[in-house]
Amino acid sequence: MTSLFLPRLVNGVTGDPALYVDLRWERRAFLVDLGDLSPLSTPEILRATHAFVSHTHMDHFFGFDRVLRFHLPRPTRFHLFGPRGIMDHARGRLAGYTWNLTSSYPFVLDITEVTEEGMRTLTLPARTAFAPEEEVREAPFTGVLLDEPLLQVACAILDHAIPCLAFALQEKDHVHIDPNALARLGLRAGAWLRTFKTAVREGASPDTKIPVQERGAPPGEAWRRLGDLGGLVARIDRGARLAYVTDALFCDGNTKRILALARDADVMFCEAMFLESDADRARERYHLTARQA
Ligand SMILES: [Zn+2]
Repeated sequence: MTSLFLPRLVNGVTGDPALYVDLRWERRAFLVDLGDLSPLSTPEILRATHAFVSHTHMDHFFGFDRVLRFHLPRPTRFHLFGPRGIMDHARGRLAGYTWNLTSSYPFVLDITEVTEEGMRTLTLPARTAFAPEEEVREAPFTGVLLDEPLLQVACAILDHAIPCLAFALQEKDHVHIDPNALARLGLRAGAWLRTFKTAVREGASPDTKIPVQERGAPPGEAWRRLGDLGGLVARIDRGARLAYVTDALFCDGNTKRILALARDADVMFCEAMFLESDADRARERYHLTARQA
């Protein structure tokens, strides 16, 4: 099965942590941790719409400036997620520069701080020199950071002497369309199939109105009941799951959370900073050994 996620470690397995996840068919990408991003090209960084940062130890976060540098003059919106303190740390980086000539820049940065008590999001536009124009928006912490028609991003909060986020990217199920059924119903493929597939995945009511494109007719007002389109589904394949775990103490609480997050993962990226013979040092530094991983 072809997965939506095309992940690659930007600096290999021994370099600074940064995972680039290209989203096939979406013309965009996610970044997981922001270590050294210099191997990424400008177009690759501009494809990134979201960064999920485990924690702000320097090797996981100093690539933030590079993201900012390339997005700054563009009409893009970039969303940064991180653990408790991410807002102060990102704003601290912003405060290190002078922003007197950005009032015409359309770039907007959203920062979401994830804690067990809840999620807080702040919007910082370049045109105001990254001063917030609105209050912080609050939402309860459910473990889900992002929920879109094609994917979901979940996280667990781990103990690394500080809170450290582990992430799971879950692709939603693939709904395959039967082209013969499409022809039988007098319909043609188009953007409306995305709406249809989303309704199927979410188990929407059979009475849900789905806008459709009829064969030979100009795009218009045509629609069908979801229940009358059931024959279009050729099959449904399970979506891929990708887990990313870094910088965590080997303890019961972390193990339980990591296992829940990584269950059924097709691909897992997991740190192992120390050999088993250095287990004492790993514990002192709140890291995993290769065997523990
Ligand atoms: Zn760390």
